[in-house]
Amino acid sequence: MRAQPKASHFIAGAWAEDTGGALIESVYPATGEVIAQLHEATPQILAQALETAATAQADWAACAPVERGRILQRAAALLRARNRALSELETLDTGKPMQETLVADAASGADALEYFAGFAATVTGQTIPLGRDMAYTLREPLGVCAGIGAWNYPIQIACWKAAPALAFGNAMVFKPSEMTPLSALALAEIFAEAGLPAGLFNVIQGRGGVGAALASDPRVAKLSLTGSVPTGRKVAAAAGAALKPVTMELGGKSPLIIFDDADLDNAVGAAMLANFYSSGQICSNGTRVFVHRAVKDSFLQRLDARASKIIAGDPLDEATQLGPLISEAHLARVLAYVDGAKAEGARLVCGGARLERPGAFMAPTAFADVTDTMTLAREEVFGPVMAVFDFDGEDEVIARANATEFGLAAGVFTRDIARAHRVIGRLQAGTCWINAYNLTPVEMPFGGVKASGFGRENGHAALEHYTRVKSVYLGLGDVDAPY
Ligand code: NAD
Repeated sequence: MRAQPKASHFIAGAWAEDTGGALIESVYPATGEVIAQLHEATPQILAQALETAATAQADWAACAPVERGRILQRAAALLRARNRALSELETLDTGKPMQETLVADAASGADALEYFAGFAATVTGQTIPLGRDMAYTLREPLGVCAGIGAWNYPIQIACWKAAPALAFGNAMVFKPSEMTPLSALALAEIFAEAGLPAGLFNVIQGRGGVGAALASDPRVAKLSLTGSVPTGRKVAAAAGAALKPVTMELGGKSPLIIFDDADLDNAVGAAMLANFYSSGQICSNGTRVFVHRAVKDSFLQRLDARASKIIAGDPLDEATQLGPLISEAHLARVLAYVDGAKAEGARLVCGGARLERPGAFMAPTAFADVTDTMTLAREEVFGPVMAVFDFDGEDEVIARANATEFGLAAGVFTRDIARAHRVIGRLQAGTCWINAYNLTPVEMPFGGVKASGFGRENGHAALEHYTRVKSVYLGLGDVDAPY
């Protein structure tokens, strides 16, 4: 097995194993080859991860923030130095082409570590004058935070959660998706090499049951989940019962609105990125593409011409632009949506079938004449399937764009700057783009509204989600007691 790690878990700065846990197999989706075998965390492994994290966190909270930042900087430098090896690992685990993983995965994780490394030492409280007396606030870490990841951006998700957690003085126990267990372990090794004290970043493996055990464990102070809406509902309910804060980064069905004055080539390019990058397996994808009726035919022609040139193939070949989906089972789900869309009357513009080659590959697919009530318009497909809708007016398209339970992201293409801001102002979405799509620099907060979740990752906003405020009233005179 070409990506077998030394053990399943990484706890307290060392590899840990308990073969009593159920088997997890990591499969390279481009070939079906088993690349690693691991075991789910047993209750003993979970306890070890949480207890060593709690011990380590107490000292870490007392460590000078500038020193915390220095360690995170070293980890970022190691991620960058090993970008190629980490990208290969991510490609094997996810099937995403190297052309993507080289720029979007470990590199994005390194960005997060650098950003929060610099942020760590800038965190301060307030002083609040109260006349004779005064008050001040302290920003304190929360304690042991748990992170639970999805399979589409495994190391990026681990870093987006670990970087702010660690920078602000917390420990993190991270459970990657059972589909992609490997890169979080590589990250844990890098943290250890960078000098992060043992126990502050522990990785344990497991399916939903291990995630649920983390979510309900009283030793976990805060939980951050990246996953689907159904999982989010369960995790938020468990955390709610324990009155524990959560960050929810969930799914979407985001609108991308293309007005008739848009630069159409840019709009087509963005719509393709918003549906075909990572084989469409991106939470914030603009999967409902609303195209003004006046430019619809031209949009579809250009889309078809460009989609037919996408290079699918061996993900390890850097020329490849389209890799497989994460698994055969997921491909079957996505193809069922394609069949359903045809049956409900949507018009297939391109793609629509699996590719005739080994692995879970499918052609970039687009449907036109999609209506708002079709299943394809309402449910997250999480595959390379674009739905194109016609529209005529601004008010109409805003109402239709908002008519969804989701609210992760939204995009607008227009040359009319007033309209761009006006429309974005009325869209119910947490992360929006004007004349761009799916760019998520670490400086910009990222997250959703409505069923797409709450809380934010990245940017200054992350401070709110990995610290708490302590208020301290300072009496400077005699106590005024009536007794
Ligand atoms: P998923 O919900 O099936 O699993 C996500 C994680 O939750 C996995 O680690 C899984 O083991 C764990 N899990 C499952 N059941 C659990 C439970 N009851 N308690 C605790 N943990 C549990 O999602 P997925 O299929 O891995 O990922 C795809 C989904 O993730 C899509 O819906 C996508 O939109 C979403 N996603 C969101 C973002 C974002 O930032 N908003 C980013 C990437 C992916």
